Amino acid sequence: MMNQYLETLDIFRGISENPYEYGKSIKEVAGKPVIGYFCTYAPEELIHAAGALPFRILGTTGAIERAESHLQSYCCALVRGGLEDALTGRLGFLDGAVFPHTCDSIQRLSDIWRLNAGFGIHIDAVLPVKLNAPSAHKYMADVLHKAVRDLEHALGKTITEEAIAASVSVYNRMRRSLLSLYSMIDRNPGVMAPDAMYHILRAVMVMEREDAASRLEALVRVLEENAAPAEKSDRKRILLAGGICSHPDICRILHESGADVVSDDLCTGLRYADGLIDETERPVEALAKRNLGRMVCPAKHLSVTARGENLFAEVTRKRVDGVIFLQLKFCDPHAFDYPYLKDRLHRENVASMLLEIDQQPPPEGQLRTRFETFVEML
Ligand code: SF4
Ligand code: SF4
Repeated sequence: MMNQYLETLDIFRGISENPYEYGKSIKEVAGKPVIGYFCTYAPEELIHAAGALPFRILGTTGAIERAESHLQSYCCALVRGGLEDALTGRLGFLDGAVFPHTCDSIQRLSDIWRLNAGFGIHIDAVLPVKLNAPSAHKYMADVLHKAVRDLEHALGKTITEEAIAASVSVYNRMRRSLLSLYSMIDRNPGVMAPDAMYHILRAVMVMEREDAASRLEALVRVLEENAAPAEKSDRKRILLAGGICSHPDICRILHESGADVVSDDLCTGLRYADGLIDETERPVEALAKRNLGRMVCPAKHLSVTARGENLFAEVTRKRVDGVIFLQLKFCDPHAFDYPYLKDRLHRENVASMLLEIDQQPPPEGQLRTRFETFVEML
């Protein structure tokens, strides 16, 4: 068991640590178009149905130089890092990118990218913001139908309903397995290495999705059949909340400080896995429904309390002892939600801490001290 688990994990970890190498190989070896995207609301299933690889851009963690002349320094690291990679040619294997209408930074990046990054394909998908308006479903479905036409035009292909249905099925296989892994971690936080889940998530967002689905299913099977039962433990259970987690190492340091991550409210986490697509409906309509019903992010609107209710429900479901907010510097949507979310947790006696991260997290020693203090307090 151990060998198969370690081999699969090594593959995911390798791709998570070198996503651009992987993207380049798909482009050069498989000859497949590669389409970048920045956000979980991007219509990935449609890109996949068009025969292209949807490739999640998380941006460089290195120095930002060229992007500075196009963006204010108070843009988030995801936007600045992504543009830097495009301008320096590190993303040269992309054929283009799709920009869903989400936060202000992504919307403005779309224009700057179109004018300066020099890729052939550029698609904006102007999704609705208010997800429970009476017209939201029709609006969302119309935007997705338009994205189909835009992709067809850009890639010179016809995207059939059958192809979209096949993609939906691959994505459901992948998400079902990711949700199974979340359940296993809930039951037994030691079932995988502490940083494994976030490497897996970062990898599947750029991988050939059929390959990702098969490897995830194999991993779930191996763990279900062979993992040792959970031992009784007084280790603390943590939920990570925020936008992206570009530093899976945070989970390892937290583990060494006496706590385990058992769930999250992250764009590079449960927000990506949440929400299966109804395979009995017409696929575009079903995709629209998923976008309206899944875990909401601060750039979309359901109600003023929806995010707090979701967060608290997950805290209760997973018996979480404390929440760590991973606040990406200059990410306004998450920063605006933080005080209210913190208060909501405080009212229920759930402790939380705020960790601001930029391209790089704080130094390991500093993180360890902060985590140890927080875990002790719990
Ligand atoms: S917070 Fe919302 S808008 Fe921002 S990357 Fe995540 S899903 Fe997209
Ligand atoms: S939601 Fe935040 S992290 Fe994501 S792109 Fe927008 S500003 Fe950046």
